[in-house]
Amino acid sequence: MNPEELRRQIEFYRDLGVRELYRRAPSPAVELLPAESARTIEMNIPLPGLSPAGDSLEKISEDIGECTRCKLHKGRNKIVFGVGDACARLVFVGEGPGADEDEQGVPFVGRAGQLLTQMIEGTAAKEGIPLKRADVYICNVVKCRPPENRTPEPDEMEICGQFLFRQLSAIRPKAICALGSTAAKALLGGKDGVTKLRGKWHKWSDIPLIVTYHPSYLLRPYNQNAKREAWEDLKKVLHFVYD
Ligand code: URA
Repeated sequence: MNPEELRRQIEFYRDLGVRELYRRAPSPAVELLPAESARTIEMNIPLPGLSPAGDSLEKISEDIGECTRCKLHKGRNKIVFGVGDACARLVFVGEGPGADEDEQGVPFVGRAGQLLTQMIEGTAAKEGIPLKRADVYICNVVKCRPPENRTPEPDEMEICGQFLFRQLSAIRPKAICALGSTAAKALLGGKDGVTKLRGKWHKWSDIPLIVTYHPSYLLRPYNQNAKREAWEDLKKVLHFVYD
């Protein structure tokens, strides 16, 4: 990357509210820009590339502001930032708000949300784990509702994904549960779908991550097998986090 490309990239991240960039290892090939462009800090602790020091959910929400960074802002009513415990040991990541979420500004409050709540609380109760929905943190890859609930497009995921990464870095949970293939793609990259990714542990920035089916998929009546598998996935992640 030449200095001009690097400058543009840094400006792009600055517009997203990122004020500091971390570098994992010094690279002699990279020509550093003047200090005012980006403060580069050497750290031994592995951190994701974009994690401002002292970041918090409040700060991230402030940086999102009345966001117009991608085209999704045109159709939204409310930005759906995230809900739950800011110190949660488990974070669920969905795809993007639907109509109910867009109206209320809260993730997973529609039919899929009710199923997610049942899945979390019901599975935990059956496994003897005292856990309520409010004890975990729930958010999405994109914070604004895609038109007609379509899948978020790559540019939308790229822009909004930076805020998701900051949320996860600020919370630093013990585990993450990616709901559906959009969340899996945003967090793991690659093209594999849920069927291929589920049932084993992955990692996002050193945080153990499980992929399972999106609750909307499980609402379809013919997905009995997927429901059983989602239950297995949830049991696995709940025991890992709360035992
Ligand atoms: N589906 C999602 O992925 N997220 C929500 O918040 C609601 C439905």
